[in-house]
Amino acid sequence: MDSLATMDFPAWGYGLRYQYGLFRQVILDGFQHEQPDYWLNFGNPWEIERVHVSYPVKFYGAVEEKVLEGKKCHVWVPGETVEAVAYDNPIPGYGTRNTINLRLWAAKPSDQHDMEAFNTGDYINAVINRQRAETISSLLYPDDRSYQGKELRLKQQYFFVSASLQDIIRRFKDSHSTFDDFPEKVALQLNDTHPSLAIPEVMRVLIDEEYLDWEKAWGIVSKIFSLTIHAVNPEGLEKVPVDLLGSLLPRHLQIIYQINFLFMEELKKRYGLDYNRLSRMSIVEEGAVKSIRMANLSLVCCHTVDGVSRIHLATLKTRVFKDFHEFWPQKFQYKTNGVTQRRWIVVSNPPLSGLISKWLGTDAWIRDMDLLLGLRDHTEDTSLQEEWMMVRRVNKIRLSEFIEAMIGMKVSPDAMFDVQIKRIHEYKRQLLNILGIIHRYDCIKNMKESDKEKVVPRVCIIGGKAAPGYEIAKKIIKLCHAVGEKINNDSDVGDLLKLVFIPDYNVSVAELVIPGSDLSQHISTAGHEASGTGSMKFLMNGCLLLATADGSTIEIIEEIGKENMFIFGANVQEVTNLRQKGLAVKKSLQFARVVRMVAEGYFGFKDYFKSLCDTVEGSSDFYLLENDFESYLEAQAEADKAFVDQKKWTKMSILSTAGSGRFSSDRTIRDYAQNTWGIEPCKCP
Ligand SMILES: *Cc1c(COP(=O)(O)O)cnc(C)c1O
Repeated sequence: MDSLATMDFPAWGYGLRYQYGLFRQVILDGFQHEQPDYWLNFGNPWEIERVHVSYPVKFYGAVEEKVLEGKKCHVWVPGETVEAVAYDNPIPGYGTRNTINLRLWAAKPSDQHDMEAFNTGDYINAVINRQRAETISSLLYPDDRSYQGKELRLKQQYFFVSASLQDIIRRFKDSHSTFDDFPEKVALQLNDTHPSLAIPEVMRVLIDEEYLDWEKAWGIVSKIFSLTIHAVNPEGLEKVPVDLLGSLLPRHLQIIYQINFLFMEELKKRYGLDYNRLSRMSIVEEGAVKSIRMANLSLVCCHTVDGVSRIHLATLKTRVFKDFHEFWPQKFQYKTNGVTQRRWIVVSNPPLSGLISKWLGTDAWIRDMDLLLGLRDHTEDTSLQEEWMMVRRVNKIRLSEFIEAMIGMKVSPDAMFDVQIKRIHEYKRQLLNILGIIHRYDCIKNMKESDKEKVVPRVCIIGGKAAPGYEIAKKIIKLCHAVGEKINNDSDVGDLLKLVFIPDYNVSVAELVIPGSDLSQHISTAGHEASGTGSMKFLMNGCLLLATADGSTIEIIEEIGKENMFIFGANVQEVTNLRQKGLAVKKSLQFARVVRMVAEGYFGFKDYFKSLCDTVEGSSDFYLLENDFESYLEAQAEADKAFVDQKKWTKMSILSTAGSGRFSSDRTIRDYAQNTWGIEPCKCP
């Protein structure tokens, strides 16, 4: 949104105004507890409530067939109606008068609908029903892979889609009397498949309410939608049971069946009666639970499907949507993700921002990140190096003060700050990081006193939330605390090694931690991170990356050069080979030793950690921690070596920031505007 506004594009963002956002993470005895985040309790000064911008959203009920002027029509008679009220969040662009709008919908009870219940005298149930309406926008689902509250989640999706489309169509109709120009004026970008009900919804509105025929409606729908996909494997794709969809949205199910029927006819023309292929590509999945495949629905109807990094597109073509790619190769593209330098440098790191502008002689990089390349001309300049080190030190001191305030631990800014902050997930391999820390601890414990002088002091910082139902992720958080407890209180180790868990990781925490980091870890098993954006924020702030060749890191290597990074581990092809052809996993005695330390209770909680240790045991080690372990330790040793030479480290740091321009969201958005939406900047006079 920040990039859209800054580059003067005419765009709107739509979303839900959740009463409770993602849970607040509280740590008690090293265990994660989830608490509601009451973010609206003291009001939200940035939003404008639009009491007059509201739309009814319908659910349940039945479809009646009628004949109007000799034509068969469908009339959806709903069983429940909820009102969507708009809350506007203005997004001002940087250095432009253009300000765009993020419109969020809140669910409120619908008055007209309730009158019936009040009139029948069912007062108490009428009041309870009013309250139930508000639950639709009450809670953000913390894990979109879990199917608890499936119906409420589907209700949320349709509520969002219906309100947004009513708003868009109303605005279009204010100045147009037919829908002929709709594809010319409107482009809708679906963020993953969660809003894919928008597709049958536009068909329904055009056919049932605007009385267009199917062909005309389809002609419009097939020109307006495009999709950004985030999934990396077929198992991660969203499915909705037919029974659920049919009861909540009976007319939409009919339309989806019709879209699928026509699609199957099209496939038969090309492939004949290849039923295996047809059943793989069908929008409807037959099986124990008959379901709608939201991704297939979106692929059939969107004119463009984008991955979020170059390697992700390759994965989509070969693994996730192989059949669809064969049928529609031209639909598949990619736009590597980006982040905005306005937030991730200018707001979060003012000292670095000032330094960059001083050495480039301009602050124009805030709108044009390619200019950062100019820093490369000064990397050998000792005064830039010294100023750069000063700025980094100021940010490290700020971070150590934050750590002391948060968890009461003192850490020295002379140490290397080694950071891994992101959602806790097995594929992101925080466990690999912790096992590496145990190895480092073990080495220090077994060292002669005289050798300790050569150890580069480290402060290892880990932060992130685990989805409430994700037991293994929660055990990783507990292990981090158990290991920290041991290391941080061991006088043999002192300041040579500290392990800090920062609770309640969120954007505000990230803004403070990232500028104060020396090294940051992005160590997912190759092939599992679609893009990753955390690495880009660190890069912009001059932090060096320790990473696997996964997601956007592959493109970061091209910009920064692997000699300025610490890259390790199996690449995507090697991971595929290891898994498919059962090639030998690299065995590691050092890995076996640190896992045994955990399994045998060296850090306590022996029984509790057993199932966690089992996940990395032999053939159960799906994320290949053991395979990558020695290579990981080597990369860590390289980082130590580089850190000893502060001059060299500083040059690598300057080169990281200098090469980060490509990862500005301005580049991503310009690509979408030119190649997917076909829109031009529209400057305010
Ligand atoms: C950027 C960001 C992420 C994404 O981080 P990855 O390292 O790409 O997983 C997650 N959470 C917050 C709060 C962020 O700011």
